[in-house]
Amino acid sequence: MAGRVYVAGSANMDIVARAPRLPQPGATVLATALHKLPGGKGANQAIAAAKAGSSVTFFGCLGQDAFGDELAGFLSSAGIDLTHLARVPIGSGTALITVDDSGQNQIAVFPGANAALPFCDSFRAAKPGDVLLCQNECPLDVVLEYARAARGQGVRVLHNAAPAVAISKQLLEIVDVLIVNDEEAFGCFIGLNPSAEAPRGAIAMARALQRRDDQIVIVTLGADGLAALAGERTIRLPAHRVQVVDTTGAGDCFCGYLASCLAEGAAIDRAVAVANAAAALAVQKIGAGVSMPPRAEVEAFLQSVHSV
Ligand code: ADP
Repeated sequence: MAGRVYVAGSANMDIVARAPRLPQPGATVLATALHKLPGGKGANQAIAAAKAGSSVTFFGCLGQDAFGDELAGFLSSAGIDLTHLARVPIGSGTALITVDDSGQNQIAVFPGANAALPFCDSFRAAKPGDVLLCQNECPLDVVLEYARAARGQGVRVLHNAAPAVAISKQLLEIVDVLIVNDEEAFGCFIGLNPSAEAPRGAIAMARALQRRDDQIVIVTLGADGLAALAGERTIRLPAHRVQVVDTTGAGDCFCGYLASCLAEGAAIDRAVAVANAAAALAVQKIGAGVSMPPRAEVEAFLQSVHSV
């Protein structure tokens, strides 16, 4: 039987205004459209894992406010187990985003309730075969507590070190699968080696971040696909050539799908191939949480590219 995916991470309400140009300091611009979209890396990745077909438990922290209610509603309608969701009397995580006609953006993120994410003792029920998936958007001491508990229980630890902030050596040593884009890889490297020059090339960077022989380090490269180091073995996959509409959440889709495939017991080569295909479908739709493709679509896409 497939393992469960546990996601310990953030949930945000993304308020997105589209405007002809970004406002200068002190200025106001008239927005032409306003979208309210569920986001936050933890929530996005939980949704992707659920869309991939996994049973998913989300350990997150929402405010006791309307955004919190809406986010909880969205996550539970995706079939995610929210039994252990924390609600605190602080505003829910909120991102204020302005996007101009050229696609440039300006973002202010209020972490709010995400900063109060507690460790949930119910995670002790997780067992070998299950997977833990975390990111850098919640307090890293709590993430470390989850990772340590997972390791003690034989649960595989996936960490997406995004956004790019330095993570501790202790966390990096526990992680079984590290997923970073090139900027985040650089952030991790500088955190470990403040005065060293970063190596050139994704595989060299993955090698510099690898802490254990059995560790997998995946560097996602946007439209260039990905490079990974699985122990000593290297894996390279080009991205699928698709019509890109919005790359927001591409990495989240990749991580959620990867976690789901590994929880199913798939080998890493198959897991990255499925995740790469899922992310290529996600970039063809606007939004993050709402653009995660269902598993059947991903498998059909993989079949269609293989039969070419
Ligand atoms: P992030 O969104 O975290 O910055 P990336 O931009 O590296 O991460 O994208 C993650 C994955 O999404 C890539 O490895 C690839 O599988 C897919 N992807 C991203 N951009 C594209 C694109 N333009 N075309 C096809 N796939 C893409």
